[in-house]
Amino acid sequence: MQACIHRGSKQIGGSCVEIESCGKRLLVDFGLPLDAEENTEQYLPKIKGLDGSDPSLLGILISHPHLDHFGLLAHIPPKVPVGMGPAARRILKAAAPFLPVKWPIPAKGWQYQSGKRLNIGPFSVTPFLVDHSAYDAYALLIESRGKSIFYSGDLRSHGRKSKLFERMLSNPPHNIDTLLLEGSSLGRISASTEFPTENDIEDQLVHVLKATEGMALIHVSGQNIDRIVSIFKASKRTGRRLIIDLYTATILEATENVNLPQSSWPEIALYVPQAQRIQVKENAWFDLLKRHTANRIFIENLHEMTNQSTLLFRPLHRFDLERAGCLAGPVYVYSQWKGYWEQGSYNMVKEWLDRHAIPKIDIHTSGHASPGALKKLVAAVKPKKVVPIHSFFPEKYPELFPNVNTHEDGEWWEV
Ligand SMILES: [Zn+2]
Repeated sequence: MQACIHRGSKQIGGSCVEIESCGKRLLVDFGLPLDAEENTEQYLPKIKGLDGSDPSLLGILISHPHLDHFGLLAHIPPKVPVGMGPAARRILKAAAPFLPVKWPIPAKGWQYQSGKRLNIGPFSVTPFLVDHSAYDAYALLIESRGKSIFYSGDLRSHGRKSKLFERMLSNPPHNIDTLLLEGSSLGRISASTEFPTENDIEDQLVHVLKATEGMALIHVSGQNIDRIVSIFKASKRTGRRLIIDLYTATILEATENVNLPQSSWPEIALYVPQAQRIQVKENAWFDLLKRHTANRIFIENLHEMTNQSTLLFRPLHRFDLERAGCLAGPVYVYSQWKGYWEQGSYNMVKEWLDRHAIPKIDIHTSGHASPGALKKLVAAVKPKKVVPIHSFFPEKYPELFPNVNTHEDGEWWEV
């Protein structure tokens, strides 16, 4: 078995690995680079048969539904099968119509079930559900002709599913030749630093919600389900009702997980911002809206609820909040990757906060394992070699792990 990292040996984002055995090939992740301004074909790695014309390409395995791991599927015809988690697939399908950018809907293909082996040509593939900031994320064990690669995907040990990480430490895959290991945290924090857990985030939010007189506006990705749960719990603990929009309601519904907050729960309210009301009309999403109307509130209700509510903030809420006249004593909590803010993606929010003198507080934790957690993973798996991927600092791997083999983008190597 041979492998080639097409992108990701020295960067975070745009991951793509090609694996070959007996003349057959699988791609593992097919991501859009994080610095890509548009999702265009120029970012496609040079791989044979991406148009579906080459039967040696058996398909594409996606680890999890983050754009830097699946985004380039937008350029692949549906005849190339795609493997992913079933809930991840539903989430992407549910999200696509709401989003302004070209957001790929994965083609049909293998549905992962944690721990259940899939036979794909000469490969056997076993997905393992992992703790990550994307829902339904997997590490992938790929075996062929007595050799094995364990691809970590993106994972962490401090989220709401930390038990999955512990389970992997106590019951790791055996006889791994190559561990393709993400290293997003390397160079960001020291080897002895740990990230706050999602429980810590919940406590920090409780503190802020208690101290806030007006509405709490919490800016988070509608697909960061772990964080939405932290916000839900913090709101509940402080007697605030959580207001979600139609997009978030649709994503939560797509998880089909009855243990996750849903628009029908009494602690939740649905407010459909003006921009989404237009989308509903234009696209005739009346059935969709109907499914979420149990706790629907309207603009006049926002005003009444200011100090008893937390709004899952999206930039399009700015106009509604102004019209509702509910901007007395609010707080804005930025609860996602600070890079988006620094790159200027939310300059319109920044300008709006300044104009209304709304204070900004950052409360966030990483979706990725700390160096210490990665060390534990390597010690448990005991791979013959560790190959860096999804890191800006592959040169730091040998300081943390034994048997590191670094490979360049585009270089083929024996597993
Ligand atoms: Zn990710």
